[in-house]
Amino acid sequence: MTTLMIHDGAAAPHATGLRTGGVPLVPGGFDWPHCRACGGAMQFLLHLPLGPDVVSVFLCQNAPGMCDDWDATGGGNRAYLFDGAALAPAAVPERGETLLGAVSALRTEDVAAEDFPAALDLWSDGVDEATLRVQGQLGGAPAWLQGDETPSCPGCGEPMAFVAQLEEGFDFATSANFGGGGIGYVFTCRACRAAAFLWQS
Ligand SMILES: [Zn+2]
Ligand SMILES: [Zn+2]
Repeated sequence: MTTLMIHDGAAAPHATGLRTGGVPLVPGGFDWPHCRACGGAMQFLLHLPLGPDVVSVFLCQNAPGMCDDWDATGGGNRAYLFDGAALAPAAVPERGETLLGAVSALRTEDVAAEDFPAALDLWSDGVDEATLRVQGQLGGAPAWLQGDETPSCPGCGEPMAFVAQLEEGFDFATSANFGGGGIGYVFTCRACRAAAFLWQS
């Protein structure tokens, strides 16, 4: 079984469901992340409810290609594992490339296939429009474009758990930038309340 994430139209900017874009929902006292390379405010990418938790992903788009935003530990992206119980819309910084051009709802759908490539084939049946709607997978095993880059948890040093992979977006005009046709990968360590993000192309 593979759980696909399917583009499901526009969402409200503060929607509590699975979405890309819009405004991040954050705990009190949250500081919007800034890029270690260029210092700019990062772009909010993904709101991913995960049981009682929410994973929130940001990456730097202020100087595309210059900030090593593909790297899980380079400081050009940032992922969080929040307790989902008490989150509110963040105050968006006035400067920087902070928001995607569209807010997209994603729904999940279970497909009887053993991995992501097989599920993508089965679900879309080779139809381009359907293939475009598939925005990644929830759980399962990562379909790496390059080699396995499972990050180690900065807290405990153990390999982090894979939770999702994400395409750049449904609409080229408003999609995220993972190097052009890349895939983003999201990991967590529940014990350490940590999350990590990286992308490959
Ligand atoms: Zn940067
Ligand atoms: Zn850990």
